[in-house]
Amino acid sequence: MTIRWVACELHTHTVHSDASHTLDEMATAARELELDWIALTDHNTVSGWAFKEQVEAKRGIGILSGLEWTTFYGHMLTLGANVLHHADWRFTGPDDIDEGIAGIHKSGGLAGIAHPFRIGSPICTGCYWEFTIGKWKALDYIEVWNGPSPHMKAFNQRAYLFWTELLNRGLRIPAVSGRDWHHSLLSSEATLAVTYLGVHEEAAAGYAGGGAALESAVQDPRKGVSEPQLLEAIRLGAVSVTQGPLLKLYARETGREENRTFGIGEVARVDPSAGSRLSLTVEADFEVRKRQWSLEGQELKLCLVGSAGIVAEWIVPPVSAAFKTCSDMTGQRWIRAELYGTMNGQAGLLAFTNCIYVEEGSLTL
Ligand SMILES: [Zn+2]
Ligand SMILES: [Zn+2]
Repeated sequence: MTIRWVACELHTHTVHSDASHTLDEMATAARELELDWIALTDHNTVSGWAFKEQVEAKRGIGILSGLEWTTFYGHMLTLGANVLHHADWRFTGPDDIDEGIAGIHKSGGLAGIAHPFRIGSPICTGCYWEFTIGKWKALDYIEVWNGPSPHMKAFNQRAYLFWTELLNRGLRIPAVSGRDWHHSLLSSEATLAVTYLGVHEEAAAGYAGGGAALESAVQDPRKGVSEPQLLEAIRLGAVSVTQGPLLKLYARETGREENRTFGIGEVARVDPSAGSRLSLTVEADFEVRKRQWSLEGQELKLCLVGSAGIVAEWIVPPVSAAFKTCSDMTGQRWIRAELYGTMNGQAGLLAFTNCIYVEEGSLTL
């Protein structure tokens, strides 16, 4: 199973709403940051979309069509919705979000909660999430890291715990980061998170024309993937979020003749009562975008965390390596990798994968 990991920034604004840069200026800055794709998510307007193709061609970067549906009771990010069926923000009440999500889906888009615990009015109108969600399963993703240096912000730590709580309730909801990018310039002290979206290599090659086209696809700054493939990666939870190295996670069944391998976002089945186990591999890739960040001179903590507690922990140097463990996964409903270290002088969570989900059941099924 080979996955092509695409470096994305999923939350941006331009002069079409309240930011200071044009789409072209932002795309130029994004290329310098070695990003493959950015999502244009202006507040309550899609007027910037008109410049998308021109900027994509000129700057060699992919641009996802998005919007930040900005209301008094919360901000909702939408990606890939072609028609805006959802309600006018001015008349959206605290109980109207299920209808809004259904409207986004009707127009082919994904719906994600932006910065659920950022401070609200009067600092930022509607930034704090106050909508009552009835149908949690309808939600496509949640932005658990918002803004630069995300590990230093209490509202992100709270969002991360909230995501964990949703996972423990049995919801298989993907988590992403978003810079909430308003100004091209970045303070030299800040670090940035990137959301990597995983597309199966065969699918990516197919989009680029396959075979001979594969080489040119790899050269393509858009990584040879399409907007629908990236949306599908979010929907499936094939997502890894980081301020530095890219974490990849695989689970392999033991106990069957043909052992299958599962990637991030997939469901692995185990039968602990029959002695079946999962062999888990975490890969930390320190070669990605390495001009943009440094973790030199420190030891990092890499963990495998599940719903029933910690599965494994390693103290690791900041170099690319793979780490393996084997577990019967008793009581675990999901598992993810987390990397801890220090950036900007503050220790915290620097990278995390989305989950591999675990189901217990008979392997003979
Ligand atoms: Zn917002
Ligand atoms: Zn925003």
